[in-house]
Amino acid sequence: MALFSKKDKYIRITPNNSLKGPSSNNIPEVPDELFAKCPACKHLIYQKDLGLAKICPECSYNFRISAQERLVLTVDEGSFQELFTEIDTKDPLHFPAYKEKLRKTRQETGLHEAVLTGKARVKGQPIALAIMDSRFIMASMGTVVGEKITALFELATKKGLPLIIFTASGGARMQEGTLSLMQMAKVSAAVKKHSNAGLFYLTILTDPTTGGVTASFAMQGDIIIAEPQSLVGFAGRRVIETTVRENLPEDFQKAEFLLAHGFIDTIVKRTDMRDTIAYLVAFHGGSR
Ligand SMILES: [Zn+2]
Repeated sequence: MALFSKKDKYIRITPNNSLKGPSSNNIPEVPDELFAKCPACKHLIYQKDLGLAKICPECSYNFRISAQERLVLTVDEGSFQELFTEIDTKDPLHFPAYKEKLRKTRQETGLHEAVLTGKARVKGQPIALAIMDSRFIMASMGTVVGEKITALFELATKKGLPLIIFTASGGARMQEGTLSLMQMAKVSAAVKKHSNAGLFYLTILTDPTTGGVTASFAMQGDIIIAEPQSLVGFAGRRVIETTVRENLPEDFQKAEFLLAHGFIDTIVKRTDMRDTIAYLVAFHGGSR
């Protein structure tokens, strides 16, 4: 009986039992949004089983979530104050259709750019916070992303705040060419000044963190955390395999592989992240 009772849970039938579209042979409709395929273990997961934190019940993979969702899971309610939304790209290369792409992406994501920056509190402790969002042109790092993160570091240094970044990125933003690559050095200089002031910097690598972001501020944290099964690397797997002419291990560039090889300090699942951040910030003296 249990087998049949599951039917209601997994299959939605349209009113009057009919289906729209060409193949309407009374086959129950299964809308795409009911399920999510886990990119890590490939299981088909009932969306509601993922929960608010969106964690795969089969393999603990932490699904990609929006910056807004992460904010809700991480900071004290009502404590986030967004900053630096006045910074805007000048489209330096006059890249075809770039401005239109930005406008559309802003509309679709509700975000100003690929990184959300501001001040917040975690369990009562003030922090400077940046959250990158892969829905925004694959969280690629252009001049605005670099400038916003730099401005956040400068503010944190001035105000004596610990800084926490959730990284995600496909790499440099090709629409802004070399200017994107220059952000790596600029942000790194601001990280160093923050560090020289004796302040705490925590990076949390989420799926996927690659390219110039990995090669700069993602790996410069005093403590580096990754979410389970996250892809973290510089160049892509196929690029490396072609270059070194060797097959790479199956779990290459996965958070667990990086932990085993000493690239990161620990792996924390999303449901424990808020407590972990609060503990680490307090342990390192909080704000000054
Ligand atoms: Zn899974």
